[in-house]
Amino acid sequence: MTQHGHSHRHYNEAMLSVEDALERILGYFDVLDVEEKPILDAVGQVLAENATSRFNIPPMDNSAMDGYAVQATDVQGASAESPVTLSVIGSVAAGSLPTETVRPGTAIRIMTGAPVPDGADSVVPFEDTDEVERRDAGRSMDEVDIRFAVQQGADIRPAGEDVREGDLVLEKGAVLRPSEIGVLASLGYHTVKVVRKPVVAILSTGDELLEPGDEFGAGKIYDSNSYSVAASVQRYGGTPLMLGIARDNLESMNAKLQEGLESDILITSAGVSKGDYDMVKDVLAQHGKIDFWSVRMRPAKPLAFGVLTAPDGRQVPHLGLPGNPVSAMVAFEQFGRAAIHKMLGKSGFQKPRIQAVLDEPIHNFDGRRVFARAIITKENGTYHARLTGNQSSNLLTSMARANGLAICPEDLPVKEAGEVVEVQMLDWPEEVF
Ligand code: AMP
Ligand code: MG
Repeated sequence: MTQHGHSHRHYNEAMLSVEDALERILGYFDVLDVEEKPILDAVGQVLAENATSRFNIPPMDNSAMDGYAVQATDVQGASAESPVTLSVIGSVAAGSLPTETVRPGTAIRIMTGAPVPDGADSVVPFEDTDEVERRDAGRSMDEVDIRFAVQQGADIRPAGEDVREGDLVLEKGAVLRPSEIGVLASLGYHTVKVVRKPVVAILSTGDELLEPGDEFGAGKIYDSNSYSVAASVQRYGGTPLMLGIARDNLESMNAKLQEGLESDILITSAGVSKGDYDMVKDVLAQHGKIDFWSVRMRPAKPLAFGVLTAPDGRQVPHLGLPGNPVSAMVAFEQFGRAAIHKMLGKSGFQKPRIQAVLDEPIHNFDGRRVFARAIITKENGTYHARLTGNQSSNLLTSMARANGLAICPEDLPVKEAGEVVEVQMLDWPEEVF
């Protein structure tokens, strides 16, 4: 591999594939420790205990309908023309227990979810009785006409149909989606043990940066990287810790890095391209070790990765993203997201990948893997990818227009229009799928 003209011999700089860079980075992360929290606060986190049931769900045989609990043999010959009249000996609502037993010739009024009384083996829904007409006519409700024969077991939901006492219902390692949160609630869990969320310290660097909200100034730009990265951290289940902006000087960098040591990972942006190497390297070297890598990808070739050592000896991994806003986001998607997922116990989580027909070529000038910002649509059942236009890595609005990254492999000088391209979806918009 030929090196670039301006070589930085005093850095351990290697040209790494995306996979090699990812593997090296993930080697520094482990699944985090366990926290116990209210179930609703645990959405998206990974279960750190087996959830078993102390009881049956439903707890007892219960009615699937509002109707009458009967003995099926009593109503065998019932029809609209020759209904069977039963005497109504009681009523049972959801949440209460029946006090009577159904015997031949009798029925008990029963509501959905109410326990089936002893003696009854089936439920006749109201619509198969004269319940409504009888009530409207002001006739006695002590009797009911059954107009339909039912099978034994009809409209009875058996005890333990959903969950049996002692069942392992959710296994350690399960990701808690809304349905799992509901299942935990049904088991009576109020709090749950999950893998803790990583705290991700986020730091932007540069003398040119303004805080959004600051007055606009000539020669300055607003810091967008802190925000796009923090929003991504939130999306993937981490907790961002906003450190703000470090200026391009030792004192400022040092102060901010100290704050970054309170985290599970520090993510910085900028200062890893050639011009800024020295200062950042010197500062980071005081706190730990750092490697500057060239990753065989476009955008986001320059990447820094290292480990900071906190005063208490704890090691805090540091991911240094490139400064250009698109590069920062694309590098975060490939490396930062994977690190967060690993800490959360979601190893191997991928963004959805699809195959699309490419509507215009992707050029690959220098043997890197190209992640082209693309707009994916579905036409006549086929995915199509077109590019967002100019692919310069400073054009952040192009990222806002894209819903996927179309990938041209590193060994291919061009991916032609009409060829099938792999796309890493950034989003999964409903209007497309
Ligand atoms: P650098 O790596 O410091 O040379 O930065 C590369 C480019 O990214 C420059 O044009 C910077 O102005 C820009 N940049 C760096 N940090 C940010 C940021 N936090 N938000 C937006 N642009 C940035
Ligand atoms: Mg800079």
